[in-house]
Amino acid sequence: DPGGNVRVVVRVRAFLPREIKRNAQCLISMDPDTEKTTLMVPNDTTDSTNARARARKVTEEKSFTFDKSFWSHNPSDPHYAHQEDVYDSLGEEFLDHNFEGYHTCIFAYGQTGSGKSYTMMGTDDQPGLIPRTCQDLFERIHEAKAELPNISYNVRVSYFEVYNEHVRDLLVSPTSSSTSVTSPNYLKIRESPTEGPYVKDLTECPVHNLDEILRLMRAGDRNRTVASTKMNDTSSRSHAVFTIMLKQILHDIESDQTTERSSRIRLVDLAGSERAKSTEATGARLREGSNINKSLTTLGRVIAALADPKKTNRAGTSVVPYRDSILTWLLKDSLGGNSKTAMIACIAPSDYEETLSTLRYADQTKRIRTRAVVNQDKMS
Ligand code: ADP
Ligand code: MG
Repeated sequence: DPGGNVRVVVRVRAFLPREIKRNAQCLISMDPDTEKTTLMVPNDTTDSTNARARARKVTEEKSFTFDKSFWSHNPSDPHYAHQEDVYDSLGEEFLDHNFEGYHTCIFAYGQTGSGKSYTMMGTDDQPGLIPRTCQDLFERIHEAKAELPNISYNVRVSYFEVYNEHVRDLLVSPTSSSTSVTSPNYLKIRESPTEGPYVKDLTECPVHNLDEILRLMRAGDRNRTVASTKMNDTSSRSHAVFTIMLKQILHDIESDQTTERSSRIRLVDLAGSERAKSTEATGARLREGSNINKSLTTLGRVIAALADPKKTNRAGTSVVPYRDSILTWLLKDSLGGNSKTAMIACIAPSDYEETLSTLRYADQTKRIRTRAVVNQDKMS
């Protein structure tokens, strides 16, 4: 089956201390049998966005069905979804596809503070999808090598962020490569006819074991934080793209033929989704030179165009505005091309307006189809 829809899952997090303090109400319920997620109408006014929802006289609850609903609100619930559960039901299967030779992409979407980084990166005690994927990857490599003497692997990793429509290499320390905050080492994008868009001169580190890849992951994460602190900002405005390139080289002794299978594992922690709307609302601020949200607003347009191809048809051809932003240009394949793709919609438990917007976005993303192919070459 070459075509497949983007897999869409949703995850709700626990209350944060500040939410407990204001006695916040949980507006989310999930049905483990139907994977239905329901957003209830708020009756508290302690939160400003919920007060706004009340002012709009919202009376209806809204339900959405996704491929999976992860209930991570209260650990005492029998259906509570731990980091491990998220990996087991999504990460593991996507890694299977990588070993089959497919490109994959998993991206986390949601407002700031909804649990994107927790889900993708996690903490030292509660590792998320990225470190678990790395661990499983090297476990499988070691197992396969022990069983098959004629197989070899080549793993490389890159890590970059898109911030204010600039690409920055997170595997290059910002202090060692630049002296000024205003002129850091921005990288350019190129498009190859065979490989599609790519970041020119991006560091791709060969890695041989779990330790090496985790060290790079942490160093990259520190670089993301360092730069954002310098710019008096938080990482909520940057999109972080962690990529693992896996090459499997299989030599068949009988036929003396070598087969190469290459796949790309993309794991993306998007900027906070609340930014997209605040920019749309104020054109003036946009003209001030803030490109911060351009990648996110364009992502919304790309998703809308891919979800309803007929709507964008003009003169018989549909136009997907990939090239209107850095992020969508670079993720072109992952969004509408040669990739198996999943979106994790992260939601806070007590924010009606932002959650409704995220759930609608996720609902639209479900309709997108990609066309993944096995990337395999016979070298003879
Ligand atoms: P985002 O990256 O979307 O801005 P974070 O991942 O930083 O949000 O999450 C915000 C806060 O909520 C963090 O303190 C994080 O540790 C906590 N958190 C998020 N999701 C969970 C979860 N499923 N279980 C426990 N804590 C979580
Ligand atoms: Mg984050």
